[in-house]
Amino acid sequence: MAKRVTLTKKEMAKRAAVRKRGNSAARPSAFKLTYSTMFNPPEAMHTKYDQALAGIKANLGRDYGMLINGQEVFTETKFDDRSPINTQWLLGAFQKGGPVHADLALAAAQAAWPKWAGLRWQERVRLLRRAARQIEKRVYEIGAVMSLEVGKNRMEGLGDAQETADLIAYACDQMEANGGYIKEMGRDPLAGYHVTNTSILRPYGVWVVISPFNFPMALAGGPSGAALVTGNTVVFKPASDTPLTGRLLAECLRDAGLPDGVFNFVTGSGRDIGQPLIDDPRVAGITFTGSYEVGMHIYRGFAAGRYPRPCIAEMGGKNPAIVSRNANLEDAATGIVRSAFGLQGQKCSANSRILVEAPVKDALTQLLVDKTRAITIGDPTRRENWLGPVINAAAFRQFSEFSEELSQAGEILTGGHQLTDGELSQGYFCEPTLVDGVPHGHRLWKNEMFLPISMIAAVDSLEEAMRRANEVDYGLTAGFYGSKKETDWFFENIQAGVTYANRPQGATTGAWPGFQPFGGWKGSGSTGKNGGGLYYLPLYLHEQIRTKVERAKLPT
Ligand code: NAP
Repeated sequence: MAKRVTLTKKEMAKRAAVRKRGNSAARPSAFKLTYSTMFNPPEAMHTKYDQALAGIKANLGRDYGMLINGQEVFTETKFDDRSPINTQWLLGAFQKGGPVHADLALAAAQAAWPKWAGLRWQERVRLLRRAARQIEKRVYEIGAVMSLEVGKNRMEGLGDAQETADLIAYACDQMEANGGYIKEMGRDPLAGYHVTNTSILRPYGVWVVISPFNFPMALAGGPSGAALVTGNTVVFKPASDTPLTGRLLAECLRDAGLPDGVFNFVTGSGRDIGQPLIDDPRVAGITFTGSYEVGMHIYRGFAAGRYPRPCIAEMGGKNPAIVSRNANLEDAATGIVRSAFGLQGQKCSANSRILVEAPVKDALTQLLVDKTRAITIGDPTRRENWLGPVINAAAFRQFSEFSEELSQAGEILTGGHQLTDGELSQGYFCEPTLVDGVPHGHRLWKNEMFLPISMIAAVDSLEEAMRRANEVDYGLTAGFYGSKKETDWFFENIQAGVTYANRPQGATTGAWPGFQPFGGWKGSGSTGKNGGGLYYLPLYLHEQIRTKVERAKLPT
């Protein structure tokens, strides 16, 4: 029976205010797009997506500037942003920024910082809520751009866009729930004096945000929203494969009315502009999301500064699903296939390792092969296609190299080929690939491939599965299918920041601010706190204790 809760008048007023404001987590709406609800969306969603897509396709190929200090900045040399669906589709031309532009952007962010940090926190919340609304207003356009630029199917594209608005709104919610992180501490009982102690979390200064290609909106807008609402100013560099999505984020923040210099958008390669940004002593903090190799390089390099500065590094994964002999195999197979191959296996949370108890291995394998073969592959902007292309020529080539290596080491049960016929010939399409029989010591049990390839192995016990699950340097996500008692044991023993049990929507994938905050342990993340969660905003703030003493007035 549901527990009855009696609210005070003050609590009722607070809840009414939250509802009116449109708190993302509390908003009562008929359809709320999340990774969990995206499996059966209303028809109107498809219509709006198709209209937005047509509009974008009619206007492709523009020259897009960087946005520094509120100004469009162009360079002589550009790079092309082409769609992995069809490389003939030129999405736009972007500026090849370098050290000069890193310097310009950092100078702008530094100049804007005192005023931005000095605003009342409620004013920053107001502006960031406007930014979240701008994103929601453009959610179909942004989702469709991500389909074209990343190769996301329509639900994945829209999910990424909506999640960005919700991450920013959630950061605003957290500022409010914590009263701007200003808290009264204990009072010293000092005779003759009146003493107050106040803890206040304050922003660091200029924050650099560097994002990956696979969630180019959420993993740029989420960290940027957190940095901005807490009072830092931002220089943001997107991945070179996804500058157009980054540009749309910058436009939403600009159109929300952020003052010039508070958010700066630069483009160019990691080497040419990313490295100068992270090497600059004016930078007070960094949020990097991307591969383990680049993340550790940045983490180590940043530590070489004159004093320690925060470096939030969100990195890769090698995410296991453990399947017990007591599992519901249908749910397990559905969840595994969605997580192994969703977004072409290019999610940091992709399920790349399947460890199944020997008595049910054959039955699970058959289900996985059947479901994998039923996947529809093609232009992911089309409603009927679930699997799109991989991101670029290098990933396309690596798919063949890994497939070849794995076919030598084990047996490819299904997949293993690039798809190059007909209209797929202009893009980077690969078959979803399931591999069996690869020896335990093989390097690809430990290294992230970031492609639609997953490996399966039988284990003699759940203990053996757990040992193998935890033996890698990563600790991002993990999934389990089994009995209730086994599930409790799984949660206690698995080394990962995001864990799921008996979930058909995805064995190892799924995140939503306020619901499933996302972050990793070990080599998957440097802070041990998850984005979109309760403990994230303080990462962007340092604490100051203010002890104030006044002489008590003597009685006259
Ligand atoms: P990546 O190659 O590591 O690149 C990430 C970003 O770093 C890009 O913007 C890249 O710019 C930039 N960069 C590269 N070298 C740099 C340098 N020396 N200095 C500064 N910036 C530099 O990763 P990706 O291929 O885009 O993304 C896939 C990876 O991200 C996977 O490993 C995935 O697991 C991980 N990921 C993790 C999470 C998480 O939450 N833990 C989420 C999503 C993705 P260029 O594009 O210009 O090279």
